[in-house]
Amino acid sequence: MKKISLISVDEAVNIVLSSVVETPGENVTIFEAAGRVLARDIVADISIPPVDNSGMDGYAVRHESAVGASRDKPVELVIKGESKAGTAFDGGALEPGLAVRIMTGAPIPPGADAVIPVEDTEERGDSVLLFSSLEEGDNIRRAGEDILSGSTVLKKGHRLKPADIGLLASLNYTSIPVFSSPSVAIISTGDELVDPGREIGPGQIRNSSAYALYAEVLKCNARPVYLGIARDSFNETKEIFTRALECDIVLTTGGVSMGKYDFVKDVMAELGIDIIVDKILMKPGKPLVFGTKGSRLIFGLPGNPVSSLVSFVQFVRPAILKSMGAGRIHKPLINAVLREDIHKKPERRHFARGFFTVEDGKIFVSPTGAQGSGILTSMSHANCFIILHEGATYYRAGETVTIQLIHHEEI
Ligand code: AMP
Ligand code: MG
Repeated sequence: MKKISLISVDEAVNIVLSSVVETPGENVTIFEAAGRVLARDIVADISIPPVDNSGMDGYAVRHESAVGASRDKPVELVIKGESKAGTAFDGGALEPGLAVRIMTGAPIPPGADAVIPVEDTEERGDSVLLFSSLEEGDNIRRAGEDILSGSTVLKKGHRLKPADIGLLASLNYTSIPVFSSPSVAIISTGDELVDPGREIGPGQIRNSSAYALYAEVLKCNARPVYLGIARDSFNETKEIFTRALECDIVLTTGGVSMGKYDFVKDVMAELGIDIIVDKILMKPGKPLVFGTKGSRLIFGLPGNPVSSLVSFVQFVRPAILKSMGAGRIHKPLINAVLREDIHKKPERRHFARGFFTVEDGKIFVSPTGAQGSGILTSMSHANCFIILHEGATYYRAGETVTIQLIHHEEI
């Protein structure tokens, strides 16, 4: 494919996504399935609840037995037996004038058509006094009201949340068909970098980007493989890159700018990687390089931690989730009222780090501070990106802007 330089974010997203190949499927245990994507529809082979059951602790009756009952004029019924969760009443069909003591979730005895809550009754020896009348169906949870046998409960492409795991358990699944998780190699490049835990010398900085990316990959339920730091030499970068190409996706950080020691693109070309995108009209993240080799996706991310994270959210995360078969792959966009004026240059789309709050049902957003691409604290304080579009130069306080939710699940 022909290399395209300096394209818009939207064009780049389309190119990246059109290069994605879905992973094969596998079965995982129900304990490992959260966050994974279903590889086929789940069709219920039972109804849930399986039988009509009680929504309250009380007495199962025929509703006509309770006609006219009140505190002043209670109706007295004879207690015929008991239905508790796990052990149904087995005394045959309930006749008028009789009641069965029943617990929440216990099966409704045949013949009964309503349950009177225990607080509207009083037991007297073998009888019970009813203090209120009932409509047919009161406090009965109907068989199949949650799930009907034969219905599609979860669709292929759905990313499993805890509630879905509960549904699968109730449908007797122990092994869940999901798309395989891609392996994602992470390489950092740069003579100045030192991993945490190692001694640091003058002029050196900590490698932070690789660790932040590792955490992002984990949040996608993909399999990160950290391969370490390549020094700024063609040969060392090539050697680590060659190992990285055993993974489905490769992420590098740094070494894609215009500097004398930026070798990533040269190495990509040397290894037969087809470079498709080189530089994107965005800030931060402009130097990003994207290429493919067979079904492998290779992202040369910028080195600065914020740039690499912004690029990850826009391009890498959607690509990982699409390869895992997910239907919803983009972080949600919503509107918010901007709290501060923001100036920008018109050429690029900016992703400003922001913090949104909800006040009286309205969403407001403020930048989280200095926006330099090396300022990781303002990224750490952010719960969204404020999207400042190409062409625009000035956003005023009070204006409505689009924000991209990046940690909405934690709010
Ligand atoms: P580069 O594109 O390699 O020149 O990197 C751009 C900037 O990001 C430089 O200031 C680097 O020191 C910094 N940088 C590169 N890689 C990392 C990393 N893994 N962690 C933190 N900072 C980095
Ligand atoms: Mg570098």
